[in-house]
Amino acid sequence: MYDVAIIGAGVSGGFVARELSRYNLKVIVLEKETDVSCGTTKANSAIIHAGYDPEENTLMAKLNAEGNPMFDRVCEELDVPFKRNGSLVVAFDEDQSAHIEALYKRGVNYGIEKMKILSREELREREPNISPDATGALLAETAGIIDPMLLTISLIENAVANGCELKLYYTVTAISKEDGFFRISGEDEQDIEARYVVNAAGVFADVIHNMVAAPDFRILPRRGQYFVLDKSEGSVINSVIFPCPDKGGKGILITPTVHGNILLGPSSDDLEDPEDLITTAELLDKTRLGVRKLIPSVTTRNSIRTFAGMRAQPDTGDFIIREAPGTKGFFDLAGIKSPGLSAAPASAKYLIGLMAESGLELLEKDDFDPRVERKLFLERPEEEQIKLLKENPLYGRIICRCESITEGDILDAIHRPAGAQTLDGVKRRCRPGMGRCQGGFCGPKVQEILARELNRPWEDIVLEKENSYILTGRTK
Ligand SMILES: Cc1cc2nc3c(=O)[nH]c(=O)nc-3n(C[C@H](O)[C@H](O)[C@H](O)COP(=O)(O)OP(=O)(O)OC[C@H]3O[C@@H](n4cnc5c(N)ncnc54)[C@H](O)[C@@H]3O)c2cc1C
Repeated sequence: MYDVAIIGAGVSGGFVARELSRYNLKVIVLEKETDVSCGTTKANSAIIHAGYDPEENTLMAKLNAEGNPMFDRVCEELDVPFKRNGSLVVAFDEDQSAHIEALYKRGVNYGIEKMKILSREELREREPNISPDATGALLAETAGIIDPMLLTISLIENAVANGCELKLYYTVTAISKEDGFFRISGEDEQDIEARYVVNAAGVFADVIHNMVAAPDFRILPRRGQYFVLDKSEGSVINSVIFPCPDKGGKGILITPTVHGNILLGPSSDDLEDPEDLITTAELLDKTRLGVRKLIPSVTTRNSIRTFAGMRAQPDTGDFIIREAPGTKGFFDLAGIKSPGLSAAPASAKYLIGLMAESGLELLEKDDFDPRVERKLFLERPEEEQIKLLKENPLYGRIICRCESITEGDILDAIHRPAGAQTLDGVKRRCRPGMGRCQGGFCGPKVQEILARELNRPWEDIVLEKENSYILTGRTK
């Protein structure tokens, strides 16, 4: 019997798992995919928002404001790249200037520090490539950029190192309430019994909720499409740059990534199928034109990839974080749309507070270790490199030439706690395939290393999803 079963290994489930692993509790994370961070967490703008944007009196406002300052410590402990490069909301006319002034006042009300309205000249000094038509901007210096996939991988890795269990390939299909516990059933899997359940299932959170509680909310999928530009474009901007928001949301933005690329997007298209992640020429074109209003010199000629992410829009308009009415012990962490990433550390603490009020005993472990160490070979100081090379000469063999990733780095990604089992799993942990050639050169080599290390046939190594085969069989 587990104390807590968490359904979903995205950033929401990841923070809850790590936070619960501080206590003497038996915890398991159930995830339907081949790896952690395969849902919305893998495809978003990767911004840690300052927190002025959410409407007043919402959980989104409270948890974004509380979550943002937590990232310095979490990222330092988990060795995750995070940069507070600041965000700008740009105005082009008087109405928009009034709007950014209102956002500024709202942010001040929420207690957000280091915000300022920039004049046209100050804006140009900070962002020399900004449109000449821009009249000013709201600067929020506490906004930042992060690698959400690596964050979630490190959260789960740290939770596992502290005793939490992770079960991948486990699609929850039914939940029943028994006498004092829940029985969770999975497709072709053994039942799991747990005293408490956390529903962190992203775009499927309503489906999971309805398995055991009275239906009272819906998740409406809304797709967002992006371009990723090559690192050669990386110096075109310094900050995260938004247009002035409208009824449709925060709008199409341009941001650097923590790894030195540029991201343009997202579009906004409402869909029925929460797993329809294709990109379309029409919406990507709108994205490109939208961004050029902010930075006219941006071109997508140096785009190295397009991708789409799925927003989990709740029909209630706000995060749904609560014990489900009438189902004691079952907790929703649902409707986690943007700023869900920014709010995630605070959302987990808030949820665990509610669980404690409901009777979950929180006794701290003496031996909880908050740290994860994750350095690529070429990021290490020379003396460490020499030592590593002596221990394992495979650190001297470059596999990914775009990102300078060695075979030793790839072995580490595979053999760490909750390690990689797919090509994308390796890519998200140590970056082979993230560069200009997008795995054209290193992909087959990474596949060969995975097959050798996991002792599986080459053909069985998939890209990401369970059936995403790359090879169908031998020709000779
Ligand atoms: C286009 C876009 C841009 C965004 N930009 C930002 C931003 O810049 N900043 C920000 O703060 N937020 C942003 N967000 C929001 C942020 O990405 C999300 O709030 C966050 O990633 C949600 O994480 P999650 O863990 O709740 O969901 P997910 O990451 O979707 O995780 C849910 C997990 O549950 C699993 N699951 C589902 N059903 C089952 C089942 N039956 N059995 C087992 N497992 C199951 C899924 O496979 C998945 O891994 C953006 C979102 C989108 C789509």
